[in-house]
Amino acid sequence: MVASFSSYKRIVIKIGSALLVDLEAGLKRDWLNSLCADVNMLREAGCEVLLVSSGAIALGRKQLGLPLRVLKLEESQAAAATGQILLARAYSEALGEHDYQAAQVLLTLGDTEERRRYINARETISTLLKLGAVPIINENDTVATSEIRYGDNDRLGARVATMVSADLLILLSDIDGFYSGVPGQDVGTKRFDRITEITAEIEAMAGDAGTELSKGGMVTKLEAAKIAMAAGTSMVIASGKELYPLKSLFDGGNATWFEAKETPVTARKKWISGQIELGGSIVIDEGAARALSNGKSLLPAGVIQVNGSFSRGDVVAIVTTRGDEVGCGLVSYDAQDAHQIVGCQSDEIESILGMTSRSALIHRDNLVLRTQATHMDKSNA
Ligand code: GLU
Repeated sequence: MVASFSSYKRIVIKIGSALLVDLEAGLKRDWLNSLCADVNMLREAGCEVLLVSSGAIALGRKQLGLPLRVLKLEESQAAAATGQILLARAYSEALGEHDYQAAQVLLTLGDTEERRRYINARETISTLLKLGAVPIINENDTVATSEIRYGDNDRLGARVATMVSADLLILLSDIDGFYSGVPGQDVGTKRFDRITEITAEIEAMAGDAGTELSKGGMVTKLEAAKIAMAAGTSMVIASGKELYPLKSLFDGGNATWFEAKETPVTARKKWISGQIELGGSIVIDEGAARALSNGKSLLPAGVIQVNGSFSRGDVVAIVTTRGDEVGCGLVSYDAQDAHQIVGCQSDEIESILGMTSRSALIHRDNLVLRTQATHMDKSNA
């Protein structure tokens, strides 16, 4: 299967350490420059691009002269602190050649798993995209401890891709796809071109394809595929060994495509409408109800009452004065702040709350109307 990159609007590209860093020679600058030229190609075709880049620990361990063995946690934390600076500078320079601003975002597991922090991280990243920057994302390995870390950027890449509702996640590593066995070792091993469902049989085929530099073998790649596909993001595993790896991929190079069935937006809204415990409710007037059914966000001006003690990022019910529930959504304010802005115009929020904030109480991207939810339940059944 060959997909044209112009059919994607938002692409997350995960770059494995082994592609970017040579243990002896350090950063592979020619490769990085070719990757950034490819990023430029995607941007010029109208795609937004986010990079999830490994390589901090590999670069830092060389810089600090750490021995070539499995590092202790504190050694990898120190290596990451040193390597991340070099990595960020390298991206900043290489993307700067094409007049793009690189923006470093370091995440920990909690930033993607806790709802409030998730929303916060997502808003920062979307703002960067709106401003035309290229986010360069990595795990914040310097503070991540062994119990609370991703440890691999395959799954982090998948969580980031679903967080920003990307339509494609590309995993670039030193292997050109998903194989039924170990290539060159198991007889009759073949590479899959396309996988539409991760069955138990596929899972059983995931051997350990990790290299000495990277933690991401096939097991984490399949985990990433599951995360991505469940949220409507397609994924592709492709080799990044040659220069211009994205161009090669879209020119029809070897790869395994994991095709998602749903679109990212419906998947995210499905997640919102699937929330079991709602944090409270917001009572709206008729004008607001009409605006919502026309696809608008919920503004404080249309709110009559706020009930419950929810926090920013909780899912709350949206009800009419007659008590009919019209939908639900992720709320942008804590209940305390929401109370204060009930009925206000959006431009009054700043003077009331004393901070610049979002104009919508619930943004339309974070809102599911009952009619949509019912429709989605049927179409996904
Ligand atoms: N976050 C790690 C680093 O930057 C890499 C994790 C991985 O190899 O997947 O070195």
